[in-house]
Amino acid sequence: MAAGGETSGGHRLVLLGPPNSGKGTQAKVVAARLGIPAVSTGDMLRRAVAEGSALGKQVESILASGRLVDDDTMARLVEERLAGEDTAGGYLLDGYPRTLGQARTLDRILERRGEQLDAAVHIEVPPDELIRRGLGRGRADDDEAVLRERLKVYGEDTEPVVGYYRESGLLREVDGHQPIDEVTSRIFASLGVDSDAEA
Ligand code: AMP
Repeated sequence: MAAGGETSGGHRLVLLGPPNSGKGTQAKVVAARLGIPAVSTGDMLRRAVAEGSALGKQVESILASGRLVDDDTMARLVEERLAGEDTAGGYLLDGYPRTLGQARTLDRILERRGEQLDAAVHIEVPPDELIRRGLGRGRADDDEAVLRERLKVYGEDTEPVVGYYRESGLLREVDGHQPIDEVTSRIFASLGVDSDAEA
Protein backbone atom coordinates (compact mmCIF):
# COMPACT_ATOMS: atom_id res chain seq x y z
CA MET A 1 0.00 0.00 0.00
CA ALA A 2 1.25 3.49 -0.78
CA ALA A 3 2.32 5.47 2.26
CA GLY A 4 -0.51 7.72 3.25
CA GLY A 5 -3.05 5.80 1.22
CA GLU A 6 -5.10 5.23 4.33
CA THR A 7 -6.04 8.85 4.93
CA SER A 8 -8.91 10.35 3.00
CA GLY A 9 -8.34 12.84 0.21
CA GLY A 10 -5.04 14.31 -0.89
CA HIS A 11 -2.23 15.63 1.18
CA ARG A 12 -2.17 19.39 1.17
CA LEU A 13 0.16 20.25 3.96
CA VAL A 14 2.02 23.15 5.49
CA LEU A 15 5.23 22.57 7.44
CA LEU A 16 6.12 25.26 9.98
CA GLY A 17 9.27 25.53 12.06
CA PRO A 18 12.02 27.96 12.99
CA PRO A 19 15.37 28.19 11.17
CA ASN A 20 17.48 25.10 11.95
CA SER A 21 14.48 23.11 13.17
CA GLY A 22 15.19 20.52 10.48
CA LYS A 23 12.10 21.63 8.58
CA GLY A 24 13.70 21.46 5.14
CA THR A 25 15.04 17.94 5.72
CA GLN A 26 11.70 16.73 7.06
CA ALA A 27 9.82 18.37 4.19
CA LYS A 28 11.81 16.41 1.63
CA VAL A 29 11.52 13.07 3.45
CA VAL A 30 7.82 13.41 4.24
CA ALA A 31 6.87 14.63 0.77
CA ALA A 32 8.87 11.85 -0.91
CA ARG A 33 7.14 9.17 1.18
CA LEU A 34 3.73 10.65 0.48
CA GLY A 35 4.53 10.94 -3.24
CA ILE A 36 3.86 14.67 -3.34
CA PRO A 37 6.17 17.58 -4.20
CA ALA A 38 7.87 19.53 -1.41
CA VAL A 39 7.42 23.16 -2.36
CA SER A 40 10.21 25.03 -0.60
CA THR A 41 9.99 28.79 -1.10
CA GLY A 42 13.50 29.17 0.37
CA ASP A 43 14.90 26.76 -2.24
CA MET A 44 12.99 28.54 -5.02
CA LEU A 45 14.36 31.92 -3.94
CA ARG A 46 17.92 30.62 -3.54
CA ARG A 47 17.70 29.10 -7.03
CA ALA A 48 16.51 32.46 -8.42
CA VAL A 49 19.50 34.16 -6.77
CA ALA A 50 21.90 31.52 -8.15
CA GLU A 51 20.45 31.94 -11.66
CA GLY A 52 20.67 35.72 -11.45
CA SER A 53 17.06 36.12 -12.63
CA ALA A 54 15.07 39.33 -12.10
CA LEU A 55 13.47 37.76 -9.02
CA GLY A 56 16.90 36.67 -7.80
CA LYS A 57 18.28 40.19 -8.09
CA GLN A 58 15.22 41.55 -6.29
CA VAL A 59 15.54 39.20 -3.30
CA GLU A 60 19.30 38.60 -2.97
CA SER A 61 20.05 41.17 -0.27
CA ILE A 62 16.85 40.28 1.62
CA LEU A 63 17.87 36.62 1.84
CA ALA A 64 21.37 37.57 2.95
CA SER A 65 19.94 39.71 5.77
CA GLY A 66 17.55 37.12 7.20
CA ARG A 67 14.51 39.32 6.60
CA LEU A 68 11.43 38.31 4.63
CA VAL A 69 10.58 38.83 0.98
CA ASP A 70 7.33 40.82 0.59
CA ASP A 71 3.99 39.02 0.68
CA ASP A 72 2.91 39.97 -2.88
CA THR A 73 6.07 38.56 -4.44
CA MET A 74 5.67 35.38 -2.39
CA ALA A 75 1.98 35.04 -3.34
CA ARG A 76 2.81 35.19 -7.05
CA LEU A 77 5.67 32.72 -6.67
CA VAL A 78 3.58 30.18 -4.71
CA GLU A 79 0.45 30.42 -6.86
CA GLU A 80 2.54 29.93 -10.00
CA ARG A 81 4.33 26.94 -8.49
CA LEU A 82 1.07 25.32 -7.37
CA ALA A 83 -0.27 25.68 -10.93
CA GLY A 84 2.28 23.01 -11.94
CA GLU A 85 0.98 19.61 -13.01
CA ASP A 86 2.60 17.73 -10.14
CA THR A 87 0.38 19.24 -7.43
CA ALA A 88 -2.92 17.52 -8.27
CA GLY A 89 -2.47 14.84 -5.59
CA GLY A 90 -1.27 17.31 -2.99
CA TYR A 91 1.85 19.16 -1.96
CA LEU A 92 3.83 20.04 1.12
CA LEU A 93 4.57 23.73 1.57
CA ASP A 94 7.93 24.28 3.27
CA GLY A 95 8.57 27.87 4.31
CA TYR A 96 5.21 29.29 3.26
CA PRO A 97 3.15 30.87 4.78
CA ARG A 98 5.49 32.85 7.02
CA THR A 99 3.28 35.81 7.95
CA LEU A 100 -0.38 36.13 8.87
CA GLY A 101 -0.90 37.98 5.59
CA GLN A 102 0.56 35.03 3.70
CA ALA A 103 -1.64 32.59 5.63
CA ARG A 104 -4.73 34.55 4.61
CA THR A 105 -3.48 34.80 1.03
CA LEU A 106 -2.91 31.04 0.96
CA ASP A 107 -6.54 30.56 2.02
CA ARG A 108 -7.61 32.62 -1.00
CA ILE A 109 -5.25 30.72 -3.33
CA LEU A 110 -6.70 27.43 -2.05
CA GLU A 111 -10.23 28.76 -2.49
CA ARG A 112 -9.50 29.65 -6.12
CA ARG A 113 -8.15 26.11 -6.58
CA GLY A 114 -11.20 24.58 -4.88
CA GLU A 115 -8.94 22.99 -2.28
CA GLN A 116 -8.56 22.88 1.47
CA LEU A 117 -5.52 22.42 3.63
CA ASP A 118 -5.35 19.06 5.42
CA ALA A 119 -2.92 20.01 8.17
CA ALA A 120 -0.24 22.43 9.31
CA VAL A 121 2.59 20.63 11.09
CA HIS A 122 4.65 22.71 13.51
CA ILE A 123 8.13 21.42 14.38
CA GLU A 124 9.05 22.79 17.80
CA VAL A 125 12.68 23.20 18.89
CA PRO A 126 13.90 25.22 21.92
CA PRO A 127 15.67 28.50 20.96
CA ASP A 128 19.00 27.49 22.61
CA GLU A 129 19.13 24.36 20.52
CA LEU A 130 18.39 26.36 17.34
CA ILE A 131 21.32 28.69 17.99
CA ARG A 132 23.60 25.74 18.81
CA ARG A 133 22.65 23.95 15.59
CA GLY A 134 22.96 27.12 13.54
CA LEU A 135 26.45 27.96 14.70
CA GLY A 136 27.69 24.46 13.89
CA ARG A 137 26.56 24.66 10.31
CA GLY A 138 28.70 27.35 8.76
CA ARG A 139 26.48 28.26 5.81
CA ALA A 140 27.12 31.71 4.33
CA ASP A 141 23.76 33.06 5.49
CA ASP A 142 24.03 31.52 8.92
CA ASP A 143 26.52 33.71 10.71
CA GLU A 144 25.31 34.51 14.17
CA ALA A 145 23.84 37.96 13.50
CA VAL A 146 21.83 36.71 10.54
CA LEU A 147 20.70 33.65 12.47
CA ARG A 148 19.50 35.82 15.33
CA GLU A 149 17.66 38.04 12.84
CA ARG A 150 16.03 34.97 11.28
CA LEU A 151 14.93 33.76 14.72
CA LYS A 152 13.58 37.19 15.63
CA VAL A 153 11.63 37.38 12.35
CA TYR A 154 10.31 33.89 13.02
CA GLY A 155 9.09 34.86 16.49
CA GLU A 156 7.49 38.10 15.37
CA ASP A 157 6.09 37.22 11.96
CA THR A 158 5.74 33.44 11.78
CA GLU A 159 4.71 32.41 15.32
CA PRO A 160 1.34 34.13 14.71
CA VAL A 161 0.85 31.77 11.77
CA VAL A 162 1.10 28.85 14.22
CA GLY A 163 -1.71 30.48 16.23
CA TYR A 164 -3.72 30.99 13.06
CA TYR A 165 -3.69 27.27 12.27
CA ARG A 166 -4.27 26.36 15.91
CA GLU A 167 -7.48 28.37 15.82
CA SER A 168 -8.63 26.71 12.63
CA GLY A 169 -7.95 23.25 14.10
CA LEU A 170 -5.37 22.32 11.46
CA LEU A 171 -2.31 22.53 13.69
CA ARG A 172 -0.26 19.43 14.54
CA GLU A 173 2.52 20.02 17.09
CA VAL A 174 5.64 17.86 16.78
CA ASP A 175 8.67 17.82 19.12
CA GLY A 176 11.64 18.57 16.87
CA HIS A 177 14.25 18.14 19.60
CA GLN A 178 14.70 14.48 18.65
CA PRO A 179 16.78 12.46 16.17
CA ILE A 180 15.80 13.09 12.55
CA ASP A 181 14.07 9.71 12.02
CA GLU A 182 12.12 10.12 15.24
CA VAL A 183 10.85 13.55 14.15
CA THR A 184 9.79 12.03 10.82
CA SER A 185 7.85 9.26 12.65
CA ARG A 186 6.16 11.81 14.84
CA ILE A 187 5.16 13.91 11.86
CA PHE A 188 3.51 10.89 10.24
CA ALA A 189 1.83 10.00 13.53
CA SER A 190 0.49 13.55 13.84
CA LEU A 191 -0.98 13.20 10.35
CA GLY A 192 -2.52 9.83 11.14
CA VAL A 193 -0.35 8.17 8.49
CA ASP A 194 1.32 4.79 9.03
CA SER A 195 5.00 5.70 8.75
CA ASP A 196 6.05 2.06 8.30
CA ALA A 197 4.13 1.70 5.08
CA GLU A 198 6.34 1.36 2.01
CA ALA A 199 6.18 4.25 -0.40
P1 AMP B 1 14.14 29.15 4.28
O1 AMP B 1 15.07 28.27 3.53
O2 AMP B 1 12.72 28.67 4.27
O3 AMP B 1 14.61 29.46 5.67
O4 AMP B 1 14.12 30.56 3.51
C1 AMP B 1 15.31 31.29 3.29
C2 AMP B 1 14.98 32.77 3.12
O5 AMP B 1 14.13 32.95 2.00
C3 AMP B 1 14.23 33.40 4.28
O6 AMP B 1 15.10 33.80 5.32
C4 AMP B 1 13.55 34.56 3.61
O7 AMP B 1 14.44 35.63 3.37
C5 AMP B 1 13.17 33.98 2.26
N1 AMP B 1 11.84 33.34 2.30
C6 AMP B 1 11.54 32.02 2.16
N2 AMP B 1 10.21 31.80 2.25
C7 AMP B 1 9.66 33.02 2.45
C8 AMP B 1 8.33 33.46 2.65
N3 AMP B 1 7.29 32.59 2.66
N4 AMP B 1 8.13 34.79 2.83
C9 AMP B 1 9.14 35.66 2.82
N5 AMP B 1 10.41 35.32 2.66
C10 AMP B 1 10.69 34.00 2.47
